Amino acid sequence: MVNVLEFFRNLPKKRCHECGNEMYEQADCYGNLCDECNHPAR
Ligand SMILES: [Zn+2]
Repeated sequence: MVNVLEFFRNLPKKRCHECGNEMYEQADCYGNLCDECNHPAR
């Protein structure tokens, strides 16, 4: 039987491919960049 909490704990954390910051789970449209690196004004 799979422990649900353990399952989520083992999920890989999303990291920004630019700066390496950990990201909270976001919509897939953000890709692999955090808000800072994905800022449209940059
Ligand atoms: Zn970043």
